[in-house]
Amino acid sequence: MDIKYDFSSELVIPISYGSSEAIETGKWGFEKPETAFMTAPCQEVCPAGNPIPQFLYFAGEGRYKEAVEAILKENPFPGVCGRVCFHPCEKDCNRIQYDEAVSISAMERYIFDVTSNQHLDIHPLSHADSKRIAVVGSGPAGLSAAYFLRLLGYQVTLFEARKELGGVMRWGIPEYRLPKAILRKEIKRILQLSAIDVKTGMRVGEEISFEELNRFDAVFLSPGAGLILSLGIEGEDLKKVWIGGDVLDRINSGDKIRMGKEIIVIGGGNTAMDVARSALRLGSRVTVAYRRTRSEMPAIQDEIQEAEEEGVRFEFLLQPVKISLLKNKKIRVKFQRMRLRGRDHNNRPKAIPVQGAFLTRDADGLIKAVGEGVDLSWIPETLARNSLIDVNTSFITPHPKIFAGGDAIDQPRTIVTAIASGKKAAISIDLYLTGRTHDDVFPKIRVGNRGALSMEAYLSGRDDRNWSEPKDVVSYPQLNTLYFEHSKRTNMCKLDRHQALKSFSEVNLGLTTDEARLSALRCFSCGTCNYCFNCYFFCPEGVISLDPLHRTKGVDLDHCKGCGTCAKVCPRFVVHMKGLS
Ligand SMILES: Cc1cc2nc3c(=O)[nH]c(=O)nc-3n(C[C@H](O)[C@H](O)[C@H](O)COP(=O)(O)OP(=O)(O)OC[C@H]3O[C@@H](n4cnc5c(N)ncnc54)[C@H](O)[C@@H]3O)c2cc1C
Ligand code: SF4
Ligand code: SF4
Repeated sequence: MDIKYDFSSELVIPISYGSSEAIETGKWGFEKPETAFMTAPCQEVCPAGNPIPQFLYFAGEGRYKEAVEAILKENPFPGVCGRVCFHPCEKDCNRIQYDEAVSISAMERYIFDVTSNQHLDIHPLSHADSKRIAVVGSGPAGLSAAYFLRLLGYQVTLFEARKELGGVMRWGIPEYRLPKAILRKEIKRILQLSAIDVKTGMRVGEEISFEELNRFDAVFLSPGAGLILSLGIEGEDLKKVWIGGDVLDRINSGDKIRMGKEIIVIGGGNTAMDVARSALRLGSRVTVAYRRTRSEMPAIQDEIQEAEEEGVRFEFLLQPVKISLLKNKKIRVKFQRMRLRGRDHNNRPKAIPVQGAFLTRDADGLIKAVGEGVDLSWIPETLARNSLIDVNTSFITPHPKIFAGGDAIDQPRTIVTAIASGKKAAISIDLYLTGRTHDDVFPKIRVGNRGALSMEAYLSGRDDRNWSEPKDVVSYPQLNTLYFEHSKRTNMCKLDRHQALKSFSEVNLGLTTDEARLSALRCFSCGTCNYCFNCYFFCPEGVISLDPLHRTKGVDLDHCKGCGTCAKVCPRFVVHMKGLS
């Protein structure tokens, strides 16, 4: 029978017999989408290469255990860094160009605080013939090196001269910035996760000789910079002249100190700020005298600002030249006026005396805090250069099995830089002990281009020597900000000034649960998929699948026509179209 179709009046829908999936429309396209996880600028600039978008993503989901585990892959000190790191990450946060930076360090602190009592799933690699490494010094550099070396499967012995671990974090930074209870928790967790053999009260060079370290397969030196530098002026040995580091050490040891009503602090670094603020808490009025200007002060900016807010006075362009004792038991400090001219060998403006310009100030005491040197007396001369321990870019000293990091080498003196050097040296030691070269590996595990290395990246290619390519950094113009809304940054609440000055209680009070969640959700997640589902919803072919729980993502390439909608609607520059060859 002949069938006649009349097409004139009806809408005709083509029906395929069998599944439309049989038609592989994917073959029609010229490009395919690829998920390319990138490096965020905040992450690049963090010396420890903290996986910031990842931990903020987990925190935004309320998955704090996963958040802290992500951090601990790269940095064993979130509780410390979340409190006292100078947070360069926030200055480079892409969100600054939209409204205000994400509160990264406050989030790091929050994530540590809410998980500090939880059991974590971090396990050291196991080695059949585990080699033995000595680490000297338990500041942030030494503890980080020990932690990462243990995670790499080595047996680590940590020698610390003092009776407790922590270095400057324990004996320098005051309680009101970094409570000892927090530091103890952080160190306890590091020791629990990584089972390090700790020898406190063992000063290398005294209780054990440097030569005895030879029995180890490799050595990491991180003795810090604890040598007091003198002012080199008349009167500096008077009883009323104190050393900044000693004052902080005594306060941190629980000693009750009385300093007198009017105190002058000499210096512009972290020690100067910490003693000045501590002296305020002990009831003194404090003036900091610094030989350059405020913008050259090496102390962390937050600390200078907090010192000012608390009532520390500053006098700039003054250099002490003589201290004398007065009959009324006060001291008189004679200052030379200075001015800035030219640059010194570190490219800092040079302070030079203004001829004949002097002034005096009377006070009840003076605290000198003009910097610290490295005690090299116990270290072989061949390892030293320019009053520091000599290392190359792989943290190797002139002796191939001795490595060094932290304040004792030529690098910025900050906690996160010390942590980063401990991690890099741990990788370097592993490469040395497994007979591989740094030049081959370091470029493959870098986080952006500013020197940070990723331990996670290193471990992923460690056994098969197959590292994935380092990822590029996402810039602000590469983001699709149409999908974001403006919002205010949350800063931590602080103790009010009068309350703060009554005791050494912690000044910054952290974020509340709601503030933390909102802060985490403000992150653009630059270069990291955070399962916003934009690509899924906008894909006209319905070929994208996402699983936020297991953090997986798939594209059915047999049916993706390569239209590029997903790449255009991805707010965080994660989906890129790649041409088919
Ligand atoms: C008062 C003060 C405040 C600071 N505040 C901040 C801050 O807020 N933020 C920031 O980022 N940075 C800050 N810094 C800088 C930061 O603390 C240092 O850069 C960092 O601690 C260096 O770490 P490290 O491991 O190299 O040395 P350290 O922390 O100095 O630790 C070295 C350790 O080695 C031990 N040791 C030394 N010699 C031997 C030996 N022969 N045998 C065995 N053990 C030995 C010491 O006892 C010590 O415990 C501050 C520094 C000071 C002094
Ligand atoms: S360690 Fe410092 S720089 Fe790195 S993420 Fe934390 S606050 Fe930022
Ligand atoms: S928005 Fe988030 S991922 Fe992007 S730079 Fe800022 S903190 Fe980092």
